[in-house]
Amino acid sequence: MITREQTRQVRVGGVPIGGGAPIPVQSMTNTRTEDVQATLAQIRALADAGCDIVRCAVPTAEAADALSEITALSPIPVVADIHFDHRLALAAIRAGAAKIRINPGNIGSAERVAEIAEAAGRAGIPIRIGVNGGSLEKELLAKYGGVTAEALAESAIRQVELLHGMGFFDLVVSVKSSDVRMNLTAHRLLAERTDHPLHIGITEAGVSQAALIKSAMGIGTLLCEGIGDTIRVSLTGDPVKEIAAARDILRAADLLPGAIQLIACPTCGRTKADLTAAAEQIAGALAPIEKERIRARAARPLTVAVMGCAVNGPGEAAHADAGVAFGDGRAVLFRRGEQVGTVAAEHAADALLEIVRELSM
Ligand code: SF4
Repeated sequence: MITREQTRQVRVGGVPIGGGAPIPVQSMTNTRTEDVQATLAQIRALADAGCDIVRCAVPTAEAADALSEITALSPIPVVADIHFDHRLALAAIRAGAAKIRINPGNIGSAERVAEIAEAAGRAGIPIRIGVNGGSLEKELLAKYGGVTAEALAESAIRQVELLHGMGFFDLVVSVKSSDVRMNLTAHRLLAERTDHPLHIGITEAGVSQAALIKSAMGIGTLLCEGIGDTIRVSLTGDPVKEIAAARDILRAADLLPGAIQLIACPTCGRTKADLTAAAEQIAGALAPIEKERIRARAARPLTVAVMGCAVNGPGEAAHADAGVAFGDGRAVLFRRGEQVGTVAAEHAADALLEIVRELSM
């Protein structure tokens, strides 16, 4: 079990962040926010994939106007991402944004940040302070000799204190760097210095498998240390891909309520069945069952094992909730530790899935 850092809780629309709540998955649209229909279509696709909170860039007054319709029709809470112009933040709050993401360092002056804090307070919505390696204060760059984990954490803490000084405490904090080690250190420092919930991710992770692995290392390591209250996997391209990756990271960290853990042996010279085909069939069939369990926030975890021989197979399969150990043309089935039958290898996947469905009900 992971012991999570104790953080305060904020609510983004109906979604709690922090305070031990399940970790919401976030993403960001890459349509033009001014294009209401395209943005809503992408938000619906994200929500359908399992996204809990979505962020939209608000770079223009027209985008802030469009946000009213988007927030009214979105199936999930919408966060407005604001840079430079505090008037856009005020307009986004009026348009029904469920949270505002700002980097106070680029809003211009403390007075302007105070205006945003006052409007957010009146609307009852949180602010995410987002510090990025690319936009650190010059003074901190000089003090630390460039972008460092310490500089990122100090910049975030300064901004937290600025908002505290304005009487605003409904905060989420993020520091993002594309450097995994720097990101880890910055978050560890932050977790020691603030109890506001942390939004974690590796920014500009890149493309394809390398980006997935970088994100899994950066986010997964922190989650396993109990740090992080909401996550976003940043991948170049279609944001819907980010959701599956985020879910995989949460599942691997055992932080996804309702998840099904699939254990499958890698196969070796002892394997006498087409285990790859069986494991793929089982993984494909488990996906909709898991989706339903996640939606229902099923409390009991479920582990399914697909093993290839009599060496490790029966042991692993017997430890899972549902398991199968393949032999030569036959397969042994297990249900919560008990051997419940033997079937021809070609029927094993279907028989195992029947056990999973029974246990999922
Ligand atoms: Fe090989 Fe058996 Fe291990 Fe699979 S479970 S990798 S078949 S030894």
